[in-house]
Amino acid sequence: MKHTGIMKKINIIGGGLAGSEAALQFADRGWKVFLYDMRPGKMTPAHETGLLAEIVCSNSLKSELHSTASGLLKAEMQLLGCKLLNIAHECRVPAGNALAVDRKMFARSVTKIIEKHRNIEIIRKEVTELDNDLTIIATGPLTSDKLAGELRRIIGDKQLYFFDSIAPIVAAGSLDYNILYKKSRYDKGSDDYWNCPFSRDEYEHFVELLEKAEKHPIHEFEDKFFQSLKFRFYENCIPIEELARRGKETLRFGVMRPVGLDNPATGKRPYAVIQLRSENLAGNAFNLVGCQTMMKYGEQEKVFRAIPGFGKAEFLRLGSIHRNSYIDSPQVLNMDFSMKNRKNIYIAGQLAGVEGYMESILSGLLVAMAISEKLDLPPATTISGQLWRYLLNPNKNFQPMNANFGLLPDLEKKERDKKLKKSKLADRSLRDLQIFLGK
Ligand SMILES: Cc1cc2nc3c(=O)[nH]c(=O)nc-3n(C[C@H](O)[C@H](O)[C@H](O)COP(=O)(O)OP(=O)(O)OC[C@H]3O[C@@H](n4cnc5c(N)ncnc54)[C@H](O)[C@@H]3O)c2cc1C
Repeated sequence: MKHTGIMKKINIIGGGLAGSEAALQFADRGWKVFLYDMRPGKMTPAHETGLLAEIVCSNSLKSELHSTASGLLKAEMQLLGCKLLNIAHECRVPAGNALAVDRKMFARSVTKIIEKHRNIEIIRKEVTELDNDLTIIATGPLTSDKLAGELRRIIGDKQLYFFDSIAPIVAAGSLDYNILYKKSRYDKGSDDYWNCPFSRDEYEHFVELLEKAEKHPIHEFEDKFFQSLKFRFYENCIPIEELARRGKETLRFGVMRPVGLDNPATGKRPYAVIQLRSENLAGNAFNLVGCQTMMKYGEQEKVFRAIPGFGKAEFLRLGSIHRNSYIDSPQVLNMDFSMKNRKNIYIAGQLAGVEGYMESILSGLLVAMAISEKLDLPPATTISGQLWRYLLNPNKNFQPMNANFGLLPDLEKKERDKKLKKSKLADRSLRDLQIFLGK
């Protein structure tokens, strides 16, 4: 990777969510950006296209309500000048209070904007070695094995890892709409979700099928190094069959909870419910909410066809499991996200230990601002400020983190009403961030 001329220059490795956001941030500030991505020449196990900022699984970027942590995060990112959030708004599909996008439209839009940007050069190449140029690594949870090996060489055995899984997508036209009904929980927001209602017998049969289903043995997926590590899941993305094995009622009180989803046709609450969220603007494909899985493909078709309304379901994509890499950031990184033993190299995105689409975009935004603007830590009362601190403060049990209210310090005056408390926390955060940014 070679730099010439007087313009400030930076290499960004990985044109995913964090890398694309960082590239646009630098380019709009007049930096020359060399954006490397190995796709489509070399694909990851989850990406399906050569497009930049491809969203690999659920198309939901979660709630926009300020009374939720993900909604507050988005409001903060808007104040910080996030580029990809604006593009997401232009590609949204109906999803109640959540910001969900047409994944292809979103990735195409980001790719087009980056391709057209005069300050960005896209280089389609797998990077396997790191040099002394100013560089951000944003290669995500599916960082290629060769680059992961180079990172291990630099940081020793401090790289950590976990596994997680993705949910199937089903063709809308293959479902039975005499059984399914549209409704959002407690009728909050518009009724953008389709619901598959289970009777007690249907639920128990479904759980039994999940418990018995054969899953992929881990050696089919991973190289020897990863096989030698302990196999574990990140708690927020546990396969549905693993949850089913935890107890008969686990799903009914979790992803399949029926509260607030009474069937309008009967006026009764089903025993359990699986929700379907539109996968694209055309509305011809649905994502099975909470049904991420590592069951064998044949088993998945059998098990998921037991969902009421799914007798003739046609699956457009089946679920799968993948490695999810991240580094031990508190040990490896300085406060500005540069590596302690290679100060020219910065880490962004999920590889740095954030978890989630918006969090990965935030990470790209913050690293870009830390380098180009020497941005200081945002206030401790903000989600973005606390995620930054979380990544870099000493922590013996470091695990990827997503936006949540638990990150924020308590209000000065105790508030017992939970809803009011969240709304006060959000108000405080946005006010403090505005002051911090001089807005
Ligand atoms: C299968 C899967 C499902 C997920 N589901 C969800 C979900 O439903 N909701 C959610 O909020 N989060 C989910 N995540 C987590 C996370 O939000 C996403 O992975 C997110 O895309 C991470 O953003 P990123 O920019 O760090 O990495 P990515 O968006 O993955 O981008 C990394 C880029 O680096 C490129 N790359 C990798 N190695 C190299 C190399 N050596 N040289 C050049 N380029 C390279 C890749 O091609 C890719 O384009 C999921 C993750 C995975 C893997």
